[in-house]
Amino acid sequence: MKIVDLKWAVYRLENIQPFRIAYGVSEASNNIYVKVTLEDGTEGFGEACGSRRVTGEVYETIISFLKIVAEQIVGESIFNINRVIESLYKNIKGNTAAKAALDIALHDAWAKALSQPLYKALGGQVNVVESDYTIGIKNIDEMCKEAQNFVERGFKKLKIKVGVNPQTDLDIVKRIRESVGYDIELRVDANQAWSPKTAVKLIKRMERYEIEFVEQPVPAWDYSGLKFVKDRVDVPITADESVLTSRDALNLIRMDAVDLINIKLMKCGGIKEAIKIAHVAEAAGIKCMIGCMNESSLSIAAAAHLAMSTKNIVYYDLDSPLMLKNDPSEPKLRYEKGVIKLSDQPGIGISVEKVFS
Ligand SMILES: [Mg+2]
Repeated sequence: MKIVDLKWAVYRLENIQPFRIAYGVSEASNNIYVKVTLEDGTEGFGEACGSRRVTGEVYETIISFLKIVAEQIVGESIFNINRVIESLYKNIKGNTAAKAALDIALHDAWAKALSQPLYKALGGQVNVVESDYTIGIKNIDEMCKEAQNFVERGFKKLKIKVGVNPQTDLDIVKRIRESVGYDIELRVDANQAWSPKTAVKLIKRMERYEIEFVEQPVPAWDYSGLKFVKDRVDVPITADESVLTSRDALNLIRMDAVDLINIKLMKCGGIKEAIKIAHVAEAAGIKCMIGCMNESSLSIAAAAHLAMSTKNIVYYDLDSPLMLKNDPSEPKLRYEKGVIKLSDQPGIGISVEKVFS
């Protein structure tokens, strides 16, 4: 079954409220949607959300990438999906969000060609996954109110963004813990804000608030800093911006520098590479989380299909569709008390046709 066409389109996703993290605030993002068409008319959809700071991409570079690879892909068989994706990785460095869009669209078309929902095509059986909800940085009263709101909606896990300054960061964690109680799981994400020594001091003071793990306490490049922190605190340390691909994961694991790894399709280049990271980590006894950028239901569903079929992915941070005003996905993902249930339609089960019309 040959791939006969590849199209892309830009769509501006707007946030319901500005989303602030340690190094910036986002109000909207220009995501690129991809459509591959097979010779029998089957279509596969994918999505890219670039990040200047994390993947080094903007939507213009994603389009340039797609222009270059379109010729390589058209004419290939969809059942040669592994080789097609491998050749993308081999021939062009970086560009991971652009690669992810293509990888997701190819997996969608592949599973449709097999007449199976993607999680089943990937070897999974369960189609529900429970996401946390992420509280962006705002004034502390508003953060507490938002936390309480989502707990009332049934969410049992919250991720808290910090990285303002050490005292405020500690106050944020303390106040949110006090306002939601101890039955709710709290994860903290510093998005590279602290020095290794500050991180150790702060995390030790946060321990009393029963933090599940702390994500990316130090700058992405500072692998020995990550190890310094990991070796000195009891709270598990998760690498996010430090790990884009399976080779980054391998290097951190070799250094014994991390307890958990946060995989994102946009950072690693798609489902195929995400599975590789999960397996490298599994061999080392390290669990993984699946996370997200500013993505709509389409690529979040792709990440959920992947998570449901990959044993070593056990933490789920797949909440970005909850923050969007204008998700173009049909149907949009629904969260029942934080639980996402995937459709049993073939493929990912979501269309973004309206972006192309
Ligand atoms: Mg993070």
